[in-house]
This record gives sequence, C-alpha cells and structure tokens, in this order.
Amino acid sequence: MTQERRTETPAIRLLPEVDAFLKRKHGLIVGDGRPSAASSATMAVMDPATGTAVSNVAAGTADDVDVAVRAARSALEGPWSSLTPSERQRLLHRLADLIERNGEELAQLETINNGKSIHMSRALEVGGAVEFLRYMAGWATRLEGSTLNLSTRAPGAARYHAYTVREPVGVVGAIIPWNFPLGMAIWKIGPALACGCTVVLKPADETPLTALRLGELCLEAGIPPGVVNVVTGTGPEAGAALAAHPGIDKIAFTGSTEVGKRVGLAAVSRMARFSLELGGKSPMIMFPDMDSELTGLAANLGVFFNQGQVCACGSRIYAHASIFDRVVADIAGMARSLKMGSGLDPDSQINPLVSAKQQNRVLGFVERALEDGAEALSGAAAGDGPGYFVKPTLLVNAGDTMEIVREEVFGPVVVAMPFKDMDDVIARANDTRYGLAASVWTRDIATAHAAVARLKAGTVWVNTHNVLDASMPFGGFKESGIGREHGAEVLNNYLETKSVCVALPA
Ligand code: NAP
Ligand code: MG
Repeated sequence: MTQERRTETPAIRLLPEVDAFLKRKHGLIVGDGRPSAASSATMAVMDPATGTAVSNVAAGTADDVDVAVRAARSALEGPWSSLTPSERQRLLHRLADLIERNGEELAQLETINNGKSIHMSRALEVGGAVEFLRYMAGWATRLEGSTLNLSTRAPGAARYHAYTVREPVGVVGAIIPWNFPLGMAIWKIGPALACGCTVVLKPADETPLTALRLGELCLEAGIPPGVVNVVTGTGPEAGAALAAHPGIDKIAFTGSTEVGKRVGLAAVSRMARFSLELGGKSPMIMFPDMDSELTGLAANLGVFFNQGQVCACGSRIYAHASIFDRVVADIAGMARSLKMGSGLDPDSQINPLVSAKQQNRVLGFVERALEDGAEALSGAAAGDGPGYFVKPTLLVNAGDTMEIVREEVFGPVVVAMPFKDMDDVIARANDTRYGLAASVWTRDIATAHAAVARLKAGTVWVNTHNVLDASMPFGGFKESGIGREHGAEVLNNYLETKSVCVALPA
C-alpha cells in the first residue's frame, strides 16, 4: 500500500563504528581536546525515523564558545599562518580523502541523525563534501592580488608602485542548519581553510553528529589543532554567543531569515564581516510548451527532494492555465505513489522530517492553508506510526496573498497555481520578500531567457531545479541573504584586501 510507513527491519546493516560512535560520551572539539561543556550539560540526539534518542552530545554555552574562539585565535596566529598555500591545499585534500575513506560511517550517522535517505547521505552529504573540498583545495594556491596603475602624481619624478594582497579575514564563526549537516559544515570549512582562516563551527542542535566526526577527521588529517573547533549547543546559547563574540572576525550563517537578521545585527554592531544564506519561496514556472515528461522530475528534484527541507525548494509551482490540470494530476499521482520510510531503508522515497518541531510546523502551515480555502490533492497529513513523517502534499486553489504562498514551509509541501502569460507569472513569481532561486520549464530558448532576465533570484535553473555545484555561486537576492557561497565568489567572504602603495624615489 502506498504512503504507509514501512515497518520492516532496515535493509542496510549498520557499521560497528556507527554503533560505537552513538554510544560514546561526546565532548566538544576545542584544539585537540574533547572537553565536556563547562556546565556539564548534555543534549539528546534523536532518530527522526523512530522518535527515540540515540545519542548524547555536550550542550555548550558562552563559556565554551569563548574557549573555542581563543583556541581558533591562537591557531591562526601560530602554526596555521606559517603553512604555505600548498601545505594548506595538501591538508584539504587529505581531509577529503579521509571523508571518502570513512564515507559509509558518515553517511549512516547522517541518516540516523537527520532522517534523510541513505542514498542522499552517501551521494550528496559525503560525495558532495569530498568534491567540494577538492575544488576548494585548489583555491588555496590560486589566491592572488593585482598590481595597480596609479594616476596620482608623486612629487618630482618619483613614482608610486601599488598592489593588493589578499589576507585571511581571521577567526570565522560558522553557524549551520540541520537540513544538510555535513554538506553545510564543509561549505564553510572548505573555503575558510583554503583562505587561511580558522573556524569555530556550531552545528544545529538537531544534527551535531557528523560535525563532531568531521572535527575528528580534521585532526586526523593533520590540520593543526585549533584550526577547526566544534561547539555543539543550542542557537540561543552557543549560537548567539558565537555571533556576538568579539574574537570572531567573520560570521558565516545558513538558516532562517529571522535568525539570520539577528546574527547579522550582532556582527555589524562590532563590524565583524558576515555572510548569510537564508530562506526562500522559490517559484517553478511551467510554460505551455514544457516537456511533459519532466513534470515528475520537477516535483521530485524541485519539491520533495530532502523532504522539501531545502532552502531553494520549488515550493510555488506556477503552471500555465492550458497545462495546469495535467501538471497537478501528474504531481498528485506521483506524490501519492512515493514510498514512505526510514532513510536507512534504501527503497523508501520519502523520509521523516528532522524533528517533531519541524513536523508540527509543517503540518501547521498545511492546516492553515486548508482553513484559508486551499484544497489538498495529496498528503496533508502526518505519516502513520512513530517518527516525524509528513505525507507529500500538493495544494491548489490558493490565493496569492495566502500564508502558504508567501512563507517558507521547509517540508514536502507545494502549492500550485495557474497563470495567464509571461507578465502575469513574472510579477507573481517576484512578488515575495525572498529571492534565492527559481526555475523555468520550457522548450523555447527565447521564453527561457526572457524569464531568466526578469526573475529576481540568485540562481535560475532552466528545465531542472536544485542543482548545485562547487563552481557555481549560490546565494540570495533580497531577504534570502547576503554574499555568495561556492565558486570563486565565496573567497571574498573569507579574505580581506590590503592595498599597498610604495613611493619609489626618482
Ligand atoms: P534556525 O533557527 O535559523 O537555525 C539555523 C542555525 O542557527 C542553527 O544552528 C541554530 O541553532 C542557530 N540559531 C538559532 N537561534 C540562534 C540565535 N539566536 N543566534 C545564533 N544562532 C542561532 O533554523 P531552524 O530552527 O533550524 O529552522 C526554522 C526554519 O528556518 C525552517 O522551518 C526553515 O524555514 C528555515 N531554515 C532555512 C534553512 C536554509 O537553508 N535556508 C535551513 C534551516 C532552516 P539550533 O538549531 O541549535 O537552535
Ligand atoms: Mg535547531
């Protein structure tokens, strides 16, 4: 039967080291030590597929953040700064090799902790992290300034010789969410280390496990102690303390727009640099000539991928009125056919959300949408049994001003609306405080480029969605963020530019 939760024993065998890791008493990672939190407090780590606690980690607070920031500062001013770029590059490659070698352990830990499919943990969290690190390792030896031709006259016949130097911004505070725990950690650590910075990483309280294992692998790779520190703890305690710490030179944040604004204000109050990768309400625009074979891919990749817990999730579908009925029938049929189950079951296609809180939040959005007059063509309910499941949900009959069309849901929920023509759809697609991403579905190259040019979004895909690459800048327009991750652009987040002007004698 479809949409029933699969109850049989997970088909993959857990590695003994995964079991051992879950049972360990986890301290923080500060320098090369594993201290308990100063308060000795711990937090339970849950398995979202069963709703049971599977491990415990330290609940760090401001005192622990302070010790970690000091460790990062002394590493920055000590051994780390004396390494050559090629030595940093080699260490990043060694870390990538170690992640690859320990890939199955990391993937299993990620699936147990986050709930996502083991396929995704293997391919995206682990495989993507390895690719990303190797790409970033390359930048370590390619950072360069420029020579400048000044027009300012020097006295007499003297001349000026001027150039720029790129220097590491310093100690980085990295605050990351729970939707791609290992991937997000690597998106921060990779460029930070390539640029010569040191890091204090605060993973989301829901998903601390792979960050802790990653911290160990950094030390095993030979990265000097203190270059990567991991403080587990909650946002209001450890996260806020990190954002406000005077010893932090730059904050790199990914998460909700609301918390991102608070973090940005804390940083700017002491002029720390900051970059923010925030939420979205990304439109998927389906023109009448779209390849109908791609509708399933659009929904799978664009909407239900990672249970919709993706910042660029295509949570608003605009389908042309002439194809609307077919599009929603296809997506509803597909949504109803997806097998729901634990991420450890390789046959399951829809896995639990990360937490009971997220499950309730998502179901709350759906309930209010139905009260507001929307109609559900699939899902709109929790999965059966324990675990934080939400059935893949397609909503129609929603007005442009309804909450479900305007707010980020961050779950397997999409709202589909018909449109008239290009002007109509572009105006409605852009009518949002967000601007992270969008996709355009058409076989006509002129239609595609006309829409791309008019969409206010940091990434626009054509005939695909949610495709990211280490080389392709990623980030938001408007309230979806500040700065770009990935590609050469991310380096600007972790470097200062120093201009040097030398007066040469006549
Ligand atoms: P969130 O509250 O923004 O959390 C993101 C990170 O910020 C976590 O590490 C969190 O720590 C930390 N944090 C929370 N409060 C903080 C504070 N006052 N100062 C500093 N750091 C703080 O997101 P969430 O609670 O995980 O999810 C809520 C909603 O945010 C989701 O439903 C979704 O809409 C959105 N979201 C967006 C993204 C994205 O990639 N754009 C990712 C995740 C969530 P703790 O988790 O330990 O409290
Ligand atoms: Mg949290």
